[in-house]
Amino acid sequence: MQLTETLRRERTLSDEGFRYLIESETAGAPLAEAADAVRRHVYGTDVYIRGLIELTNYCRNNCYYCGIRAGNTALERYRLTKDDILACSREGYALGFRTFVLQGGEDPRLTDAFLTDVVRSLKAEHPDCAVTLSVGERSAESYSRLREAGADRYLLRHETATDEHYRRLHPDSMSLQNRKTCLWELKRLGFQVGSGFMVGSPWQTTDNLIADLRFLEQLQPDMIGIGPFLHHADTPFAGFPDGDFERTVRLISILRLMFPYALIPATTALGTIRPDGRERGLAAGANVVMPNLSPSDVRRLYTLYDNKIATGAEGSEGLGSLRRRIADAGYRVVTDVGNARRTADCT
Ligand code: SAH
Repeated sequence: MQLTETLRRERTLSDEGFRYLIESETAGAPLAEAADAVRRHVYGTDVYIRGLIELTNYCRNNCYYCGIRAGNTALERYRLTKDDILACSREGYALGFRTFVLQGGEDPRLTDAFLTDVVRSLKAEHPDCAVTLSVGERSAESYSRLREAGADRYLLRHETATDEHYRRLHPDSMSLQNRKTCLWELKRLGFQVGSGFMVGSPWQTTDNLIADLRFLEQLQPDMIGIGPFLHHADTPFAGFPDGDFERTVRLISILRLMFPYALIPATTALGTIRPDGRERGLAAGANVVMPNLSPSDVRRLYTLYDNKIATGAEGSEGLGSLRRRIADAGYRVVTDVGNARRTADCT
């Protein structure tokens, strides 16, 4: 297919080209094939695993889509202690994880003092591991302290790059401008930065998705996480339909062709909406999976959306079966730190 080939060669397209690939169901197969070829050229069949530790489900924000929003009074809240986090990481290390992703709501108790202490302890205990943080919007000084403490990477999805759409997904206290400022600051500080967006969030148009791709072209992130919007019963968006699975997979392929070297996860949301979602994501260009290392009793409480997969191959205890599933899909789980490659010649 001509557009796919142009995208592979140029790593970008006109708005109309992107529009066609995003919207056309028949584009999926050729896109996935081209994206998989690029991914194999840069990364072979390697799939990197990241151990996800869900620090806290307290959050001061009120994003309309998110199940752990402050306004959800139906939710039982928890936060992990430093000892909990270190125990999770030890378990993960023994299983072969070499990257830990500490994610959480914007809990006011996630102070700089707490987080820098946790990061320093993790790096002291596991000097061969990368520490990724995903704890939302903070001040430049705070990010700088976290970097100083040894954090290597930061995940902060921009969610949608269209101002008007952003305002329909978030209360007035939040702004796209601030989120973008955070991302640029994180880059400036030398973090490997991840961003991304939800596919099929309420009122999202194809133009919004094209704007997301254009923003990522500017940002040039090391990691890109996307997944379908999934409704949560105790949010204002309870009645909205979930995002489209095939469209999400096509966007993974588009991103792989735009960013040959990026680390792109087959996300939990993708595995939640379809049982074979993560394998499909890998076959379409994704090269990271993030099994859950959180203590099993809190996993059901970190509910960003309904029906989140939390056991079986999703949990770290199911790593063996996840490895087999990934091997059956034609890829191979590797356990090194897995930095983004920048120098491979991909043309
Ligand atoms: N507080 C952190 C972590 C947020 S949770 C931060 O602000 O970055 C990680 C991601 O989950 C979010 O960035 C969002 O893209 C996604 N998410 C939240 N609610 C969701 C939903 N209902 N459906 C799909 N993805 C969702």
